[in-house]
Amino acid sequence: MFYEGKAKKLYSTADPDLVIAYFKDDATAFNGKKKDTIEDKGVMNNRMSELFFTLLEKNGVKTHFVRRLNDREMLCKRLQIIPVETVVRNIVAGSMAKRLGREEGEPLPHPIVEYYYKSDALDDPLIIGEHAIAFGWATAAELKQVDEMALKVNSILKRFLDERGVILVDFKLEFGRYQGEVILGDEICPDTCRFWDKATRQKLDKDRFRRDLGGVEEAYHEMLRRVEI
Ligand code: UDP
Repeated sequence: MFYEGKAKKLYSTADPDLVIAYFKDDATAFNGKKKDTIEDKGVMNNRMSELFFTLLEKNGVKTHFVRRLNDREMLCKRLQIIPVETVVRNIVAGSMAKRLGREEGEPLPHPIVEYYYKSDALDDPLIIGEHAIAFGWATAAELKQVDEMALKVNSILKRFLDERGVILVDFKLEFGRYQGEVILGDEICPDTCRFWDKATRQKLDKDRFRRDLGGVEEAYHEMLRRVEI
């Protein structure tokens, strides 16, 4: 093991270009201030990430996904992670609602891409692209690619989920460099996305944990059921 994050552990392999991501059941919120475990979350997030990465690859988005090895492990390309979290929003929620005093649920006229600097010490502050360029976290060309890829991921996932009765409210992506290219890394699951049921607007994501709404495991299972059909 060479890295342990909040939700995953990373292991090196005999091949220096490949790593194994191990998905844990640990759940954190508010930058680690709230902690618990969600039963089988690791299994569900590993499987859901596999489904989404496969869908994205089919649609021409390059990702770090190689293959799922077992319930909790995924073989991935080893990226040099760009220390910027990219958030795409279709509907106002979470920190955007709070920061700008808007009602959660307000639709945005078009998808908005935001960047956050990956820093636990600073609580992942919202930044503008110029900050990332000025401090050498990414080049202007890389950010342009990040932007284009993030919007493409949004269109693909939004459509796929809509067909399954799910509204894609917002989500977070992480990108990295691999053999001179920017590719999509990390995971795509209810920990990193907001999913609302189209009919009831019921939350099917980690907000159930963050906000103590109950039915956390059930929501993750329900999301997996929706995307597996
Ligand atoms: N998100 C994430 N990791 C983070 C912060 C946010 O995966 O460290 C995801 C979150 O699940 C949501 C989107 O990014 O789908 C936007 O989150 P927001 O900025 O509203 O922050 P929150 O209020 O959820 O912390």
